[in-house]
Amino acid sequence: MGDDSKPEKGRDVVYVPDTSAILTGKIDILSMRCVVPSGVIKEIRKGMMGRLMDHEMCVIQIIDPKSAYMEKVKMAARETGDLPYLSQTDMDIIAVALEIGGVIISDDYSLQNVSSKLKIEFQGCGLECIKSRIRWGYVCKGCGAKYEEKVENCRICGHKITRYPLDQEER
Ligand SMILES: [Zn+2]
Repeated sequence: MGDDSKPEKGRDVVYVPDTSAILTGKIDILSMRCVVPSGVIKEIRKGMMGRLMDHEMCVIQIIDPKSAYMEKVKMAARETGDLPYLSQTDMDIIAVALEIGGVIISDDYSLQNVSSKLKIEFQGCGLECIKSRIRWGYVCKGCGAKYEEKVENCRICGHKITRYPLDQEER
């Protein structure tokens, strides 16, 4: 990856980085237009690097998503099976990007997957991005029973459920 994976600097593009994208310092916040939901700021403040970020925090715009966009995100995440793997802040990030037409910067595969579903542009900041959208299925580790929705334990034998890629659609 290296330098090629860095987001292009453009005045017209608005980026919506997630917390780890900001904290890794791999993206140059000062030279790009960034918007984040307030949850990201809270997560950064909780971390050790909180104090170091203050001068950078000034250039980041905070927008919390409207509930209509949040509903769309939840619906898409339910469809892809990523809903149980997304935090509230993750969903805020997707909803803000959807609302303002921003480009998400995140290495989180569930976050990328739902963004892809909603046709939101996204970039990784270190790892490679997912190549295709994944639809998750759920399978019992004990008896192998398959479920379309996430269940905590197998309804047949009670074992733990794990997820697996059901199919992949081209992005
Ligand atoms: Zn089972």
